[in-house]
Amino acid sequence: MGVREGFAQLYGTAPEGVWAAPGRVNLIGEYTDFNEGFVMPFALPHTALAAVSRRTDGVLRLHSADIGGPIVELRVDELEPRTDTGWAAYPAGVVHVLREAGHPVTGADLHLSSTVPTGAGLSSSAALEVVTALALNDLYGLGLTRPRLARLAQRAENDFVGVPCGVMDQTASACATEGHALHLDCRDLSLRQIPFDLAAHGLVLLVVDTRVKHALGDGAYAERRAGCEEGARQLGIRHLRDLAYEDLPAALGRLTDERVRRYVRHVVSDDHRVGRVVALLDAGEVRAIGPVLTEGHRSLRDDLRISCPELDLVVGTANASGALGARMTGGGFGGSAIVLAEAADADTITKAIEEAFAAAGFTTPRVFPAAPSAGARRLS
Ligand code: ADP
Ligand code: MG
Repeated sequence: MGVREGFAQLYGTAPEGVWAAPGRVNLIGEYTDFNEGFVMPFALPHTALAAVSRRTDGVLRLHSADIGGPIVELRVDELEPRTDTGWAAYPAGVVHVLREAGHPVTGADLHLSSTVPTGAGLSSSAALEVVTALALNDLYGLGLTRPRLARLAQRAENDFVGVPCGVMDQTASACATEGHALHLDCRDLSLRQIPFDLAAHGLVLLVVDTRVKHALGDGAYAERRAGCEEGARQLGIRHLRDLAYEDLPAALGRLTDERVRRYVRHVVSDDHRVGRVVALLDAGEVRAIGPVLTEGHRSLRDDLRISCPELDLVVGTANASGALGARMTGGGFGGSAIVLAEAADADTITKAIEEAFAAAGFTTPRVFPAAPSAGARRLS
């Protein structure tokens, strides 16, 4: 059953409209966002779909076909940040931040269904926030731009749900266009659409969800972040973005702490890799980004030290069986990796990864091709 039919069955009337917002994967630029550097995500073909209608009585009703259970019913004027409303906190948070920003959202009925895998580092949460934000923007005629919607969605996740994420995920979901990756400057949030039409080049990008989620992840993120700030402080700059790649060797020589030195080397070299990938894609040399991706993986593994055996096995196996390049993507310690390959080699590489995981005794990974897809949109 589609979301339109699901909505009608739940709420007894047809929805005013149906919207879609995708998950995302990051092509290159990891742990660079909070250093005011560069990232390069693109939208997945997988989307969160929401059927939505306005209400005028201050009631917010939420339902997810994927979670099931009863309708969650809240009042828009009683929404409290960080109360334990489970998944409903994401759409409720969006309503809350819109109202806080002065937008007259007087209630809604919402029913959603998503094909974005959850908890795989593919931003199912951002898809949920952005689809809600766009639907309310359209229904209430708020006239907000896509980047503004992304900022509000991020604020919902930071302040209402309580997850300290950057703005990359929501920006990718809100602003991506088909056949492109987004070059996003996390300092001024300017963005540029970079051509990344894999099919036109006979290429495929595989996403490999390792299904691993290490509990270690949260503390390690905070530790890396603190280490980067420490590096910037010791170098007398505000953010690692302010260190030019050319000046990296000299800067590393001035850092005494081996750990901080590794983190600085990762961040500054990954910002540089983003620039290299942009230049190659602008020049139409899509295959040539493969080795840059693999180099990025080595940096995440050896300098930032946020990989894990499963992610290393994906990258090693893919490259040994003909991939053009591969790397872990996202926060690390599990989640997903990406593999760039000739379309003709996709099956061989997929099989090799599955066999390697079986031989190592790891859970079977989920492997799927991800064409750079459209950002959030109204469907009907
Ligand atoms: P990621 O964004 O990497 O997938 P998160 O932990 O940030 O992982 O977000 C996952 C959470 O988002 C889920 O635990 C759930 O609360 C919410 N969510 C995602 N998709 C859905 C859905 N289809 N229905 C309800 N909640 C969802
Ligand atoms: Mg998320």
